[in-house]
Amino acid sequence: MSERVIPVVDLRHPPLPLPKPATSVGPLPLDQLQRPLHDLRISVTDRCNFRCSYCMPKEVFNQDYAYLPHSALLSFEEITRLAHVFVQRGVRKIRLTGGEPLLRKNIEILIEQLSRLRTPDGQPPDLTLTTNGSLLARKAQSLRNAGLQRITVSLDGLDDTVFRRMNDADFPVSSVLEGIEAAQSVGLGPVKVNMVVKLGTNDHEIIPMARHFRGTGVVLRFIEYMDVGATNGWRMDEVLPSAQVIERLAGHWPLVPLEPCAAGETAQRWGYADADGQHDPALGEIGAISSVTQAFCGDCNRARLSTEGRLYLCLFASQGYDLRQLLREQAASDDTIASVIDAIWQGRGDRYSQLRSQIPAESDGRPVRRVEMSYIGG
Ligand code: SAM
Ligand code: SF4
Ligand code: SF4
Repeated sequence: MSERVIPVVDLRHPPLPLPKPATSVGPLPLDQLQRPLHDLRISVTDRCNFRCSYCMPKEVFNQDYAYLPHSALLSFEEITRLAHVFVQRGVRKIRLTGGEPLLRKNIEILIEQLSRLRTPDGQPPDLTLTTNGSLLARKAQSLRNAGLQRITVSLDGLDDTVFRRMNDADFPVSSVLEGIEAAQSVGLGPVKVNMVVKLGTNDHEIIPMARHFRGTGVVLRFIEYMDVGATNGWRMDEVLPSAQVIERLAGHWPLVPLEPCAAGETAQRWGYADADGQHDPALGEIGAISSVTQAFCGDCNRARLSTEGRLYLCLFASQGYDLRQLLREQAASDDTIASVIDAIWQGRGDRYSQLRSQIPAESDGRPVRRVEMSYIGG
C-alpha cells in the first residue's frame, strides 16, 4: 500500500486580531458562557494519506492545492511552549490530531516533550492522539515509549469494500485492525474507535462493528456525520441520529446508560448489561457523539490550535487567533501569552451546534467558508 501524501486546500480566512493582554493573569479564565478551558486539540499536520469523503473529499483536496510550507508550521518547541502556557491556564487534556498526526515526522519527539508538562498542581495532563490507524501497527510501541497515554483510532466499518470507499485511498480494514491490536498490546488503552456514521453509506456496519469490539476492551464510539468545513457536501438526510444508533444496538444487546467520566465529555456512554441488567465491565461500553442532534455546547471546554498556530474556539469557526505571531514576531513572554489566551477565552461565546438551524449557510450569496476539520483537527 503506497503512503500517498495529499495536499490540503487553503480555505482559511485571515486571522482575527489578537486582543490586548489582560494586565495581570488572575484565576483560570471562564468564557462568556462560564465554560472553563480544559481541553486543547493540537493539529500537527495539514496533510493526510486518506481522503475520507466527509472530511477531505478528493474532488476538492486534489494535487492542485498547496501544502502549508514547512516554515509556516509550528515547530515542536513552539507547540510545547504554547502547550505549557495552556496547561498553566487550565488545560488538563491534550489531544494531537490533524490531518493525520502520524505523518508528522518525528512526532515521538513532540510527544516526549509534551509528556514532561505538569499542571500547576503537579499532575501530567492527559495526553492522547487521534489517528486513522494507517501507520499505527509500526508506530504504537514508539508512541508509547515516548509517553503517549492513550489513543483513538478512526474506523468507519469492517467491510473492506465499504471502508476502502470511505477512506478513498484504497486502504484496507485489516491494517487498521492490526494497528488497534498493536495499540492495545503496548498499553495505549483503553483504545477508543471512532466511527462516523453516514446514513446509506455505512450505517449497516454499526452492528458488525459493535459485535467485533464488544468484550475486547475497545470503546467504540459512533459519531454523527457533521457539517464541518465547507467541502463535504453535508446533508441532514445523511445524518443518522445517535438515538437511532442506540435503538438499533439495543435491539441486539441490552444496554444501560453510564455516567459521564468528566464534565464536558462529548460522548454519551452506554454499557453492555449482564443477565441481571447491570453493566458488565467485561463486555465494555460504547459511546454516542451527537454533535448534530443533541448539541453539547453548554459544556464545551475545548480549543483547537491549528498546524500553523492559530487558535480556534469552535469546530465551526471561520477564523482563528494567530498565536504564532506572539512567538515569532513579538517574542512575547509566557506571561504575555497567558494573558492573551485569557483575554481570547474570556471573550468566547461560541455555541454553533445549538444555533445551527438559525445560522445561514450562505453569506452574500456565497457559502459560508468555515475552517476545514483536516486543518484544525477533530
Ligand atoms: N486523521 C485522523 C483521524 O481520522 O482519526 C485525525 C484527524 S480527523 C479530522 C479526527 C476525527 O474527525 C476522525 O475521527 C474523523 O472521523 C472525524 N471527522 C472528520 N470529518 C467529520 C465529519 N464531517 N463528521 C464527523 N466526524 C468527522
Ligand atoms: Fe484524513 Fe482523518 Fe480527515 Fe479521514 S478524517 S481525511 S483520515 S484527517
Ligand atoms: Fe463546542 Fe463549537 Fe462544537 Fe458547540 S459547536 S460543542 S461550541 S466546538
